[in-house]
Amino acid sequence: MNLDELRSKYSDLFADTVKFRCPEGWVSILDKYFDDVRAALPSGVKLKFVEVGEKYGALTIDIETTEYPASDIRRRLGRAENLADARSEHTCPDCGERGTMRDDGSWMFVACDRHSRNVKPAENHNARYGSHGRYFVYDELSDGFVELPVEPNWVEN
Ligand SMILES: [Zn+2]
Repeated sequence: MNLDELRSKYSDLFADTVKFRCPEGWVSILDKYFDDVRAALPSGVKLKFVEVGEKYGALTIDIETTEYPASDIRRRLGRAENLADARSEHTCPDCGERGTMRDDGSWMFVACDRHSRNVKPAENHNARYGSHGRYFVYDELSDGFVELPVEPNWVEN
């Protein structure tokens, strides 16, 4: 699937002015993400703004809906976004193959071995996701989040 195909697959979800870009290798992550968003939003509520970007090498997504959603829906949207972010840390944006976070000392990026430009994987890289005093890491095998024991010196981000 390319980005144009993705946009038409979810055209019912977008208010007509929505524009965003995404590396080809991450389109499948957005596919799962928009599927989750469509399942979470009440009928008639659409996305009027979508921004897809990158921060510290990982995918970031920012959306605005045509109506401000209730808190349980916001939680589902937040979880979908965290999943997309976590999946991107294991997916090469160039080709969509399995990738790992790389760190060349000045910047971080995700890449498979073929697109790594010989930059070694970052050591002990596994992003934490925190909310309300609970912390999770992404588990690639189950494609879900696993809760961590609480350590009080961690800073919530
Ligand atoms: Zn690649």
